[in-house]
Amino acid sequence: AAPSIKAGSPQSSHSGQSAADVKPSKEKATFVTLARNSELHELIKSIRRVEEKFNKKFHYDWVFFNDEPFSQEFKDLTTSVISGKTKYAQIPKEHWSYPEWLDLEKAAQSRKDLKEQGVIYGDLESYRHMCRFESGFFWQNPILDEYEWYWRVEPNTDIHCDIDYDVFKFMKDNNKKYGFAISLHEFEKTIPSLWSHVKKFMENHPEHIAKDNFMEFLSNDNGKTYNLCHFWSNFEVASLDFWRSKAYRDFFSYLDGTGNFFYERWGDAPVHSIAASLFLPKDQIHYFYDIGYNHGVYTQCPLEEAFRQAHNCDCQPDQDFTFRGYSCGTHYYDTMKLPKPANWKEYTA
Ligand code: GDP
Ligand code: MN
Repeated sequence: AAPSIKAGSPQSSHSGQSAADVKPSKEKATFVTLARNSELHELIKSIRRVEEKFNKKFHYDWVFFNDEPFSQEFKDLTTSVISGKTKYAQIPKEHWSYPEWLDLEKAAQSRKDLKEQGVIYGDLESYRHMCRFESGFFWQNPILDEYEWYWRVEPNTDIHCDIDYDVFKFMKDNNKKYGFAISLHEFEKTIPSLWSHVKKFMENHPEHIAKDNFMEFLSNDNGKTYNLCHFWSNFEVASLDFWRSKAYRDFFSYLDGTGNFFYERWGDAPVHSIAASLFLPKDQIHYFYDIGYNHGVYTQCPLEEAFRQAHNCDCQPDQDFTFRGYSCGTHYYDTMKLPKPANWKEYTA
């Protein structure tokens, strides 16, 4: 039987636990990765870096999603390099397939059209299922029920700086709900009708719009048009309860009902970003300027040399994308009225 400890009585050394045994309290948080078996080796590199720079100190869990069964090799290798618990979920069919009312011919025509227009992933069905899953379904999977926070990791990503604090605790203690590392402009051809639907949604659901929202980040004309700025969602540290909220559920069902995850090629990045910017007060969105992050062609690298040295950052500041043309970093700093690094102008071209 468990020893009875009176409510409110301090835990004394009689409980058999010395102060040194007491683990620092962890948040209810996990890493989340959606990946294919074939991406294992690119993914392992990403995971090893997250472990090296952060998780070996914190041992958070890691949840993996796949539309197909994970191979034994995938499970064994990821489990062997991750310092927390690992869990694997196969995505249920209803979260990775066409809704039954969808016009499949119209969807096929759109894939043809976007391919002809040279839009990246324009012809891919799987990419559209992926974007819809990341928008509307991963946070509904029961494997995440026990968690309040997640950090999304993709294959081919890198972390450059040591992260010495618990980012989940940081989010909680500072009342943040959504965190990003890189922001940029979306390809307009993938979301031609998205903004008109966002405006319709706002009209129908004024109750979901936060008072001190971040419309200024999304629009340069008070909401009339979308400036295409969004947070790059391959890195996210965010609250699962935000996606579980009535506001976001209503938003996703409305967007999904248009069929435009398939008739256009709506990305989860603009969908997440627009939701966070409209349904949260802007000070609940956090910019992780301090991690040093890379995915594909874009890198974030802290510009202050002293900061890079203090945090062992192994990135080159002249690779930093934050203040360059296609980025939305300058716009973010300006709209948040944040002071830019002293030398930022050297890194704009
Ligand atoms: P990009 O970052 O927009 O270029 O898109 P990615 O190809 O990196 O896809 C985004 C994430 O979804 C990555 O973590 C991929 O591993 C994952 N992903 C994309 N398509 C599929 C798929 O068909 N099946 C599975 N299981 N994962 C996918
Ligand atoms: Mn990617």
